[in-house]
Amino acid sequence: MTDRTRFLFRKSAGRGGVCFVCLVLAFSFSACADNASISSPSAKVEFFAMNTLMSIEVRGAEAEAAVAAGRDEVYRLERLLSRTDPKSEVSAINTAAGSEWTEVSEETFSLIQTALLYSEETEGAFDITIAPVMDLWGFSSGEHRVPDDAEIGSVLERIGYEHLLLDETGFRVKLENPGMSMDLGAVAKGYAGDRVKEIIKQFDFETALINLGGNVTVIGRKPNGDLLRVAITDPENRQQYLGVLGSEDTHVITSGGYERFFEQDGKVYIHIMDPETARPAQSDLLSVSVIDSNGVRSDILSTALFVMGREEAIRYWSGHRDLGLVMAKVDGEVLVSKNLLGTFRVTEGKSVTYFDGE
Ligand code: ADP
Ligand code: MG
Repeated sequence: MTDRTRFLFRKSAGRGGVCFVCLVLAFSFSACADNASISSPSAKVEFFAMNTLMSIEVRGAEAEAAVAAGRDEVYRLERLLSRTDPKSEVSAINTAAGSEWTEVSEETFSLIQTALLYSEETEGAFDITIAPVMDLWGFSSGEHRVPDDAEIGSVLERIGYEHLLLDETGFRVKLENPGMSMDLGAVAKGYAGDRVKEIIKQFDFETALINLGGNVTVIGRKPNGDLLRVAITDPENRQQYLGVLGSEDTHVITSGGYERFFEQDGKVYIHIMDPETARPAQSDLLSVSVIDSNGVRSDILSTALFVMGREEAIRYWSGHRDLGLVMAKVDGEVLVSKNLLGTFRVTEGKSVTYFDGE
């Protein structure tokens, strides 16, 4: 079990028996959605997939079928995108690195294509060819270690999104050099969130709360019309919140160094890497939460903006003002994009700055 799997999920029956209150305290943040209805059935599944604990909770006439279909979709995507499943399409691409083109499904192709677009847009802060770096630091095996400079130098030659080649005519993918490898860890859960959302919407339902290892998606409103609430964990004290967001039909996706890390000789090494240095990102942020209706975009950007740091993240936001951003600085200050005024309520006593671009 990794750090990510320390998961506390409390479900309580409220008045009427079908109120759900959830508290997720694991590695990134807590989600809290409460509801009260005496008429609609609700269903919940908890399961382990994509190397983390997940839960899907739905209220509505077809709740039972909706949660089961959502979970099956996550399993399907895991079989497609996992780099540790030798039968996945991603494994096929990795195995053929430096030699063959690999034909993949249109779905996998298009996710990789989107990831590449964001690599370009973030000038390499986001890079799915990061896998050899994750291996080198022991994050893939769990046997963490600090590599020496020679190892860093050599791994830098085996990463770089510009060496990930796409052939649109045949949905073919190729990693140009031997030893290259692809890791969709920073985007697969976001995509799964999009898909589960779509699938649940095909059923008769009222409210859904999807938690894919800390990537939270909420759909619908409480029976009284109120917004559902998602609390974002305070990275300095995971029992506390930075604040609470009222949301409807949105993803709240957080990346933070505190989610997965190891310590050696008094130094902390986090699982989010700076592809430029092949070392853990030296961010001036403790966490970045991206609030958006597109899960892929939220997941990618939570990682990328964390790597980029405060100044560049705010610059990026200036050009993409439809995004909601909540960032925790290392000095404890909370930075919130101005478009979340009235939507995100910062915990009392926290120092907060609302930013409005550069
Ligand atoms: P989590 O998966 O813990 O929610 P992220 O979405 O930030 O957090 O993804 C981190 C994971 O993505 C790492 O475990 C690794 O597999 C991969 N990764 C690390 N650094 C990068 C990066 N700069 N670009 C793309 N993927 C990365
Ligand atoms: Mg991410």
